[in-house]
Amino acid sequence: MNLPGHPHVGYRGTELQVEQLGARELAQRFGTPLYVYSKQSMLDALAPWQRALRGRAHLLCYAMKANSNLAVLQLFAQAGCGFDIVSGGELERVLAVGADPRKIVFSGLGKTRTEMARALQVGVRCFNVESEAELEVLSEVAHGLGRRAPVSLRVNPDVDAKTHPYISTGLKDNKFGIAHERALATYRRAAELPGLEVVGIDCHIGSQITEIAPYLDALERVLDLVEAIEAAGLRLRHVDLGGGLGITYTDEAPPAADVLLAQLLARIDARGHGHRELLFEPGRSLVGNAGVLLSEVLYLKPGVDGGKSFCVVDAAMNDLMRPAMYQATMGIVATTLRDEPPRVYDVVGPVCESGDWLGRDRALAVRQGDVIAVLSAGAYGMSMASNYNSRGRAAEVLVDGAQAHLVRERESAAGLFAGEHLLS
Ligand SMILES: *Cc1c(COP(=O)(O)O)cnc(C)c1O
Repeated sequence: MNLPGHPHVGYRGTELQVEQLGARELAQRFGTPLYVYSKQSMLDALAPWQRALRGRAHLLCYAMKANSNLAVLQLFAQAGCGFDIVSGGELERVLAVGADPRKIVFSGLGKTRTEMARALQVGVRCFNVESEAELEVLSEVAHGLGRRAPVSLRVNPDVDAKTHPYISTGLKDNKFGIAHERALATYRRAAELPGLEVVGIDCHIGSQITEIAPYLDALERVLDLVEAIEAAGLRLRHVDLGGGLGITYTDEAPPAADVLLAQLLARIDARGHGHRELLFEPGRSLVGNAGVLLSEVLYLKPGVDGGKSFCVVDAAMNDLMRPAMYQATMGIVATTLRDEPPRVYDVVGPVCESGDWLGRDRALAVRQGDVIAVLSAGAYGMSMASNYNSRGRAAEVLVDGAQAHLVRERESAAGLFAGEHLLS
């Protein structure tokens, strides 16, 4: 029986399995907290994107901030993906797995000159530029290196992605992108600057989007701009519609990628833009439901006088920030089903913050020493982990059938302060 949204995570008998391996055994073998990813789930999540775009000029750029483990990047590079990066650090990571720089788009609203220069030197495919000021600096940097930077302007279509305010990015008052009204003037400026070559247009309206309508609204506005920009004599080679497709955490029902794409492609064709190269930047939807976070139950604290009961586990907000940061609800299950009545717990970590919780009011039949699994933890889990409370970051394992690959070692205590210095 597979868990909702998780094609390769489910119970065999009483034991939770990731592909063919038992979660509890993985926890015993590698320790906890432990991120476990299913390789096949990632490939299965990618397949409908690739299928829907087959026969068209396109590039799928995995938005690697969702999960930037080298083995995950390697998997997507080998599957033919490009990458959407947002920092110089991410650039070095994808280069380290041998990814083709010409398949990298560089997003982000605060690129430094150093990051720009490095990306120009390796020859990234495109800079997604987010402000007029950035455009001027990029031109200067490129000109100084005797190059022309390929640019796309990230336009802000001012549509409501109907998602959490912290992950909505396409509204007028978000910090992202160039306002729709300013786009044409900014393209004109880009065309004048000596260090730039205009190649495309992009948008990214938010994350964990579970409806098709916001995408269609954004598409219409972007195509309006494409037409206006080309009427002004500029050429755009590609249209990049960003990422943001949601996943099922508990009861969300996002469209399947191929259903979303079929509707977008139909509109693109109907408006006569079918010849254009299309880029997408999916992140969460490729990796979110491929991962679980395993954690040991350290202590059970029964509620006093009908108050809350706590299930204290060894994973915390530093390992998985989404609940603390976005009040995100993620599924939590026992890795061994017990034939006992469940009790309702707040599942909390050891960090000294009341915001350090992984789940609230969860019915669980668990005992001290059991291992729980936080579901849908493949995206924005490990990539957002910190060392708060001087906690070493978790290990990561990639499961491929009946094989477990340790793809990141648990961070050691010595590693925590390796770069620090005492006063001499
Ligand atoms: C984060 C991000 C993405 C990926 O978003 P998901 O919701 O993970 O699909 C794509 N493009 C840009 C510019 C981003 O910042």
